[in-house]
Amino acid sequence: MNKNFESFLKDVYGKYRLDLSGEISQAFPALSEVDPDSFAITAVTTKGDVFSIGDDGLEFTIQSISKAFSFALALEQHGALFVESKVGMEPTGEDYDSIIKLDDKNRPYNPMVNSGAIVMSGLINEKEKSSREDELLHYFSSLAGRSLSIDEKVYQSERDNGHKNWAIAHLLRHFNILTKEFQATLDLYFKQCSISVNTRDLAFMGATLANGGINPKTNKRLMSPENLRHVLSILFTCGMYNYSGEWAFDVGLPAKSGISGGILLIIPGIMGLSIYSPRLDRRGNSVRGIKVSEELSNRFRLHVLDYGGEPLL
Ligand code: GLN
Repeated sequence: MNKNFESFLKDVYGKYRLDLSGEISQAFPALSEVDPDSFAITAVTTKGDVFSIGDDGLEFTIQSISKAFSFALALEQHGALFVESKVGMEPTGEDYDSIIKLDDKNRPYNPMVNSGAIVMSGLINEKEKSSREDELLHYFSSLAGRSLSIDEKVYQSERDNGHKNWAIAHLLRHFNILTKEFQATLDLYFKQCSISVNTRDLAFMGATLANGGINPKTNKRLMSPENLRHVLSILFTCGMYNYSGEWAFDVGLPAKSGISGGILLIIPGIMGLSIYSPRLDRRGNSVRGIKVSEELSNRFRLHVLDYGGEPLL
């Protein structure tokens, strides 16, 4: 791992550890039972080298970061043509759980808002001897390079309190976008959001996306190059909620955020980098996560459209 980069991460970690601005999510009760001040950063290069600082063993639920990978699995199982017939690829400029906005082809706008992500969960196929839930957990575990599990308490809290998501699922059913089994699909979506990870897991998931779809720990291919390109494109345009445009302008990296306080950044060809800090800004993004990402991108010229010079990593 590049020494300048390691000392940069140590410095920003020390600097922002003192920043206690923002509030933890109150979206449902179990989400607020976390230490608001925890903070971790992990980087995993495409060679599999790891640099990590802070509470990197602490587990939290993956929440909306899961949408990147359920979209990837839907693409792997069905191909882009079919997936695109079910969901659009257009940013909404609205909250991630905004109640339903369909495009002129009767599709949710994109797979990173809740309506689109619920449709993606509905596309996950079971396999012989393996349920849809097993398939999803198996895929996420392969990306992290270790066996992941569902946080039952968060899952139940989300299922029992996620009334807006129930409303979205009912509307999708009303428009015949979801099938009769829509309750099971929503249940799978809640479970997907409740998968427990730490920053090391997330960074390996990101490193797989940075590494052409091959996990640098296990050397397994988990995504075709075409599907990887589709996933990274959507993360670039829609990964940071209704802050995605400003993020593209300031940071310029494909990324995904979750309300538990995680942000996953992909630096294509170089590394996956994850940040966990549960205090959020008003759009639901980790306050420290955004600040670290902006400094990181500027310091090492990582904006993917920074054509004027090579990245310094
Ligand atoms: N499980 C949460 C929801 O569906 C995920 C939200 C998020 O991380 N933005 O509302």
